[in-house]
Amino acid sequence: MKNNQSSIVNRQYSLTIGWLYPGLMSTYGDRGNIIVLTKRCEWRGIKAEVLNLNQDFDSKLLNDLDIIFMGGAQDLQQKIVSSDFSKEKIKLLREKVENGIPGLYVCGAYQFLGKYYKEANRSKIKGLGILDLFTENPGEGKKRLIGNIAIKNSDGNVIVGFENHGGRTYLGERLKPFGHVMEGFGNNGIDKTEGAIYKNSIGTYLHGPILPKNPEIADFLIEKALVRKYKKKIKLEKLDDSLSKKAKETILRKIVS
Ligand code: GLN
Repeated sequence: MKNNQSSIVNRQYSLTIGWLYPGLMSTYGDRGNIIVLTKRCEWRGIKAEVLNLNQDFDSKLLNDLDIIFMGGAQDLQQKIVSSDFSKEKIKLLREKVENGIPGLYVCGAYQFLGKYYKEANRSKIKGLGILDLFTENPGEGKKRLIGNIAIKNSDGNVIVGFENHGGRTYLGERLKPFGHVMEGFGNNGIDKTEGAIYKNSIGTYLHGPILPKNPEIADFLIEKALVRKYKKKIKLEKLDDSLSKKAKETILRKIVS
């Protein structure tokens, strides 16, 4: 992904990207999502600062964020993070989601947005209750949902990624899925839904990481963040995404029958 085009210099623009729990929640290359977000800003002359919000972070920092990212984890790390999510942090994060702060929440983080995650041993990790969804791991004897995945979102765009989760997620009636499964498992391996989208927040099982393979999602987050922050119409200039397009086509040829 190299920007060959002359860039419209937006030096007056800056964005703060908050990475929630990078030390505990970052599996299957989730760091790549942060790299893509910052690079795609920089290539356009937009200043991007990343705030790493680790355990015990000061909840007030949530007020400084223009984009929120949180990655996946194993159950153990999810438990630790769950206890770090104070009432104040939950209240502020809910406010951000409701106010349309763009966010990407992958796998374990996506599960967190819901009401609860029931582990294989039947114990429950409390969710943040921001989105109307819940997740249950059916336990012993049931396979993890692992592999490459391709979905189609509501704009008809194809998105590819890699999923690895034991939890099966079920959406409330009014919550829109992020996409529909073409190949792979998605939310629960049954209803063909994948992830959830609410206002400008995306919850998804797609690791990979998702943004290098699908840079249009990064641009969705960046554009929404700029429009919110600067309160004017902003259209991002195009970047040369031919390499990620090729990568996506190759993956699709391999997995979609
Ligand atoms: N612990 C969760 C599950 O297995 C999330 C896994 C992940 O984030 N990769 O369902």
